Amino acid sequence: MSETTFEPVPAVEPAEPPAAAGTLVMKFGGTSVADPEKIRRVASRLVEAKRAGNRVVAVVSAMGQHTDELVSLAYEVSPQPKPRELDMLISVGERISCALVAMAIADLGLDAISLTGSQAGIVTDTVHGKAKIVEVRAHRIHEALDSDRIVLVAGFQGVSTEYDITTLGRGGSDTTAVALAAALGADACEIYTDVDGVFTADPRVVPGARKLHAASYEEMLEMAASGAKVLQLRSVEFARNHGVRLHVRSTFTDEEGTWIREEDARMLEKAMISGVTHTLEEAVYTVAEASPADLFETLAEDSVNVDTIIQIGSEIVFSAPLEDRTETVAALERLGARWSARDDLGKVSIVGAGMKSHPGVAALTFSTLRDVGAEPRYVSTSPIKIAFYLAHDEVEPAVKALHDAFDLASPEAERQHA
Ligand code: ADP
Ligand code: ASP
Ligand code: MG
Repeated sequence: MSETTFEPVPAVEPAEPPAAAGTLVMKFGGTSVADPEKIRRVASRLVEAKRAGNRVVAVVSAMGQHTDELVSLAYEVSPQPKPRELDMLISVGERISCALVAMAIADLGLDAISLTGSQAGIVTDTVHGKAKIVEVRAHRIHEALDSDRIVLVAGFQGVSTEYDITTLGRGGSDTTAVALAAALGADACEIYTDVDGVFTADPRVVPGARKLHAASYEEMLEMAASGAKVLQLRSVEFARNHGVRLHVRSTFTDEEGTWIREEDARMLEKAMISGVTHTLEEAVYTVAEASPADLFETLAEDSVNVDTIIQIGSEIVFSAPLEDRTETVAALERLGARWSARDDLGKVSIVGAGMKSHPGVAALTFSTLRDVGAEPRYVSTSPIKIAFYLAHDEVEPAVKALHDAFDLASPEAERQHA
């Protein structure tokens, strides 16, 4: 058995006293700013929020698939781009979109300023490609807000303690937004995206999935760690540690989305499971006869994000993101251990705070898997999660069957608070 562990998050001390209530951080994902028309719509949404009396800070992602295109371009030029230069390149996508939104706001008659992560005071460690924010020096943002401007911050990036441009890992604009909300003392951080909120399963895989009205930080941590990519894991850690309430909602409607906040009794009563998540983006490694201390120290030196860890006799099985493959292999080679890897397994997780007080979740999970002929391997649990690996082709049928078995298409699954 193993548990997902979450790394501590650094203290974010506001550089100035927290701003007055009314500071709103609004983050827009790539689909929300994918073309000029959508950029103008985002601009009007920001203008509306400003005219309603808020101090508005917006964080934007790169347009559409721009980050993917920049990454591909790098690999077309070089088989192994230098991490520093890769960060320099891929941080550009967010600079483009935030400058464009600032221009569109000016056309609507308000004053706006776009800032790179570095200009916005986002200071990170020196790990390129998945840097961690160590400090937010928000004085420039405060100054701009004080002079009545809307502030646009390029997401997903910062400047390292060695003055290099860094990026925060894929999906990192979420973390930029939450870190700013914490540093500015904002009441809430709004995450605008291409779905209506956080669903009981990925709505692209399970069409009957329901939008949750609320989820606790702990549930969202587990969901984000296990494949619900609607929020980057680290952004949820930040939100929990700094008490920032998150509102995940659609860019394209005015409807309420999903609130992520402290657990309350109603979340536990309504439905014991909040969602079924999955990911196909992990590799599972088996290492023979290595000391666990040496193994995980070596992996940590290369900044590999290890997830599930299971020891079976003298063998250690662990999983790590596919995107950490090069670093993982380098670490294993340095260690000199015998190892093998497979990337034909996906991970499915059942998550829910209500699980703590309802027996029978494991029984229903495994009987459902048996009924669809899926063979679970490497089972791991936490108080609010059961996770296991399946062959790739078993993943989607299992997610759908579990979603049905736990009645997640029913209205109760939404946790409506009205
Ligand atoms: P953005 O570009 O706005 O940051 P992302 O693509 O990072 O958006 O995240 C939104 C996507 O997350 C959705 O389009 C959806 O397919 C996917 N997703 C996976 N699991 C879930 C879930 N449980 N609830 C909502 N969305 C999910
Ligand atoms: N543009 C970056 C990415 O595609 C960051 C983000 O969208 O949050 O990962
Ligand atoms: Mg995202």
